[in-house]
Amino acid sequence: MNEDLPAIIGGEPVRKNPYPKWPIYDRREEELLLEALKSGRWSVGGRFQEEFERRFAEFQDAKHALLCASGTVALKIALKAMGLKPGDRVIIPAYTFIATATSAIDLGLEIAYADIDPNSYTIDPESVRELLDEKTKALIPVHVAGRPADMDALREIAEERGLMILEDAAQAHGAEWRGRRVGAIGDAGIFSFYQSKNITCGEGGAVTTDSDELADVIWSLRNVGRPRTGPWYEHRIYGWNYRITEFQAAVLIAQLEKAPKLMEIRDRGAEKLDKLLDEIEGVEPPKKDKRVTRHAHHLYIFKYDPTAFSNLPKSKFVEALKAEGIPCSAGYRPLYSYPFLPPSKPLPNTEKASKTEAVWIPQNVLLAGEKDLEDVQKAIEKIKKHSHKIPR
Ligand SMILES: *Cc1c(COP(=O)(O)O)cnc(C)c1O
Repeated sequence: MNEDLPAIIGGEPVRKNPYPKWPIYDRREEELLLEALKSGRWSVGGRFQEEFERRFAEFQDAKHALLCASGTVALKIALKAMGLKPGDRVIIPAYTFIATATSAIDLGLEIAYADIDPNSYTIDPESVRELLDEKTKALIPVHVAGRPADMDALREIAEERGLMILEDAAQAHGAEWRGRRVGAIGDAGIFSFYQSKNITCGEGGAVTTDSDELADVIWSLRNVGRPRTGPWYEHRIYGWNYRITEFQAAVLIAQLEKAPKLMEIRDRGAEKLDKLLDEIEGVEPPKKDKRVTRHAHHLYIFKYDPTAFSNLPKSKFVEALKAEGIPCSAGYRPLYSYPFLPPSKPLPNTEKASKTEAVWIPQNVLLAGEKDLEDVQKAIEKIKKHSHKIPR
């Protein structure tokens, strides 16, 4: 009897088995971690950090990669290395993780919020154009969900106005824009290795760039201002300790080795979900863009239309979907809605994505088999059928 009711109001969930857990590891992580432990070099001077930096730079089509404590730190030191000064203005999307804003604010920079494109949910170049002024010095496009922002249009604006571009690729390991991997398409890019990210060591970050000069300054900024070579107590600039350990780098090497295979599995999972969700009226799989030659699928973001679900608000739909055993989230709030961040007039596409439309499914779900993904479709259909019964 109850079986047919949505789980949120007492029925049996569609799915009782968990989706693949994350993070994952095997003997390789164990082996390298133990090697780092036994090496006696737990911080500087070991082999793992340099090896990972070399291999990750190659993986992202960048000349340099520099490890640091987190993606948040990576944003901050990259902006600083780019020479941005207090009072300079950077344009960021309003639909992003909070660190995209706070890293800039911490350096005394002014931030201006651009709206997002209604289909890609990445920064809208037209909205960027409307914000340009004399003080604007840099753009921070965010490759939300692992889908590259429109780097062609952004580079055109940057060239016209002499602006720097820092790619927030925290979610976009391995993603490609017109055949080139993200991270050094702009002047620099940043990545996160936080435990939810597609390549992880718990906490960590990296800056990627093709510029020898930027790489050099970033090296120093994360190393209390030390020059690359020289005595230990020599400090050429004002820096901080933003380093990570050999343990983290050892795990990252093993994770990087797994990345290509996992990317293929996520590609297949996303393709399957596209087909399954396309069959349901009232939800819409993400629109494709030919210029995105590789999507990193850190998130699978679909559009929810409450009117097809008896006007069930997105927040309730997300709760109901979770109760059916499908991991999901309502995603970001507009950054300007936080009282301690700079305000803005409401930006229509950001508002729509946040409040009514965007539903996020985390990447580990895409690692499941095709049959397991059918439960996502079943759960959505079940909620839809009974949506009028779910209390608001
Ligand atoms: C995760 C993330 C960051 C910050 O990375 P941390 O390693 O958690 O500090 C920055 N920007 C975006 C878009 C992210 O998803």
